Amino acid sequence: MPSVTLRYFCYGCLVTSATWSVLLFLYFSLGAEPNRSPMQHRNQPISRSLSDHREGRQPPAASKGAELSPEMGMIFNEADQEVRDTGYHRHAFNVLISNRLGYHRDLPDTRDPQCRQRSHPPALPSASVVICFFNEAFSALLRTIHSVLDRTPAYLLHEIILVDDHSELEELKDDLDRYVRTELQPKVHLVRNQRREGLIRGRMIGASHATGEVLVFLDSHCEVNQAWLQPLLAPIQKDRRTVVCPVIDIISADTLAYSPSPIVRGGFNWGLHFKWDPVPPSELNGSEGASGPIRSPTMAGGLFAMNRKYFNELGQYDAGMDIWGGENLEISFRIWMCGGQLLIIPCSRVGHIFRKRRPYGSPGGQDTMAHNSLRLAHVWMDEYKEQFLSLRPELRERSYGDISERAALRKRLQCRSFRWYLDTVYPEMQAVANGNKQQPLFVNKGLKRPKVLQRGRLRNLATGRCLVAQGRVSQKGGAVVLRPCDSRDSEQDWAYDEDKQLVLAGLLCLDVSEVRTSDPPRLMKCHGSGGSQQWSLGKSNRLYQVSVGQCLSVSQPVGPKGYVSMAICDGSQAQQWQLEG
Ligand code: UDP
Ligand code: MN
Repeated sequence: MPSVTLRYFCYGCLVTSATWSVLLFLYFSLGAEPNRSPMQHRNQPISRSLSDHREGRQPPAASKGAELSPEMGMIFNEADQEVRDTGYHRHAFNVLISNRLGYHRDLPDTRDPQCRQRSHPPALPSASVVICFFNEAFSALLRTIHSVLDRTPAYLLHEIILVDDHSELEELKDDLDRYVRTELQPKVHLVRNQRREGLIRGRMIGASHATGEVLVFLDSHCEVNQAWLQPLLAPIQKDRRTVVCPVIDIISADTLAYSPSPIVRGGFNWGLHFKWDPVPPSELNGSEGASGPIRSPTMAGGLFAMNRKYFNELGQYDAGMDIWGGENLEISFRIWMCGGQLLIIPCSRVGHIFRKRRPYGSPGGQDTMAHNSLRLAHVWMDEYKEQFLSLRPELRERSYGDISERAALRKRLQCRSFRWYLDTVYPEMQAVANGNKQQPLFVNKGLKRPKVLQRGRLRNLATGRCLVAQGRVSQKGGAVVLRPCDSRDSEQDWAYDEDKQLVLAGLLCLDVSEVRTSDPPRLMKCHGSGGSQQWSLGKSNRLYQVSVGQCLSVSQPVGPKGYVSMAICDGSQAQQWQLEG
């Protein structure tokens, strides 16, 4: 019944927005901490950002982006804690914050200012947006859908096709059916797979239901930004064999903050893992300057647009690939080798929640990335498959199923050789194949140490003692404890900086485990990406940890060992700290 659903959901929104209005009011009126301007740019070394993330699919952050109120993740009671912990376990991101954000939110416009002046042809092809999901968090899925509905001109949005890949979560069953039926139809259709197919066959199933002229694929935890679709459709209209990707902005898995990505393009290594590469200067000199389209050897994966008939002609995806992985390189090689081109469109921005781990496996526990990579190597890479196999000798004897149909497709489409692809599209790769070490990318370019805002000893007001390393101050992973304060001891010296990090003795950062919030805080190498090392030090003397939503506290009862832990913020003396010079 529509009215029931409506009340059910809007009741949720009302409570959420009322609570947040009060919180935000309190936060701003009681003295907010200094905030970085949303558009302040600072490059981070790509090596750090990339190696920290699975598959290197997260580009290096260009800046901190717009920050949400740090209180957004605050835990008020056990129910909040439960939502957060279950959310991390199931989805590997902060579902408490995702739920509180609701289904609509403003995003910083991360495009180059030139993009705003650009006009698009008035008549563009219409798009079918395909979103495939498995066990997605309800609020993230709904925010993805609503962001598309909110930010796409209705005449360009033919439909949204949701493909449920046989999810197990209760919330994705009747509740979702009802929401789609009462709030989202007729634009949104929901297709349910009878068994788990994986994202590759899942997208093919979605595409087979689509009737728009262009297919746009999105992950189920995205938010599209201002005028995102028009600049994707225009190049496809001009040339139907052009496949386009938006720039994938970063939504933090821990804080849900949205930040711009710099303009990088897709590559890969001989392990057949995707990576981001700097854009060669030759690609930036087109008539549209730095915000014009950039040819990219590969795509990152889930986010791209393509003429629907061309998708079918070009062989969709390899249906013999399972669950996840490798399909992005396969379709990239195929596009280039078989007469198309792949472009990144800097004026189109779509945010994606980048997680540090994939929260699901494959049904039989197989390594689907290896299986899929073998298929792609044998179909597309000619003699260069040796480069992959010599890195993964254990895969030489592994069976990878029947590839005869894909080999026949390659023949039928009269595709070029992999050598041609490397020479013409990705010459940077040859350098590596010849044994020349590539220049490290972006290393320390523009990276400066964050400015220190305050420094001194960190005294706990309940005990009068100071926070120090339990063992050696330089020991990574070491615990922190309370000891008598000593103003001459440099090992008690904390710096609080503009990145909201707490750095001990100029060496290590105070850090929490985002997944196991019951673990005490520890000292870790500073990573500069907020989250587990982001503390808010307010006038109330509490030390609020932004990503776990709790406060630093003396463990109760206060014992002689002076242990500290994370606890729900309650304003007690045990949670009051002073950074004194
Ligand atoms: N997905 C799916 N079935 C699967 C695995 C993934 O439908 O068996 C969906 C998933 O929910 C997401 C998309 O495919 O919307 C891409 O997966 P994921 O986000 O895990 O990939 P990543 O972004 O980490 O590369
Ligand atoms: Mn994803």
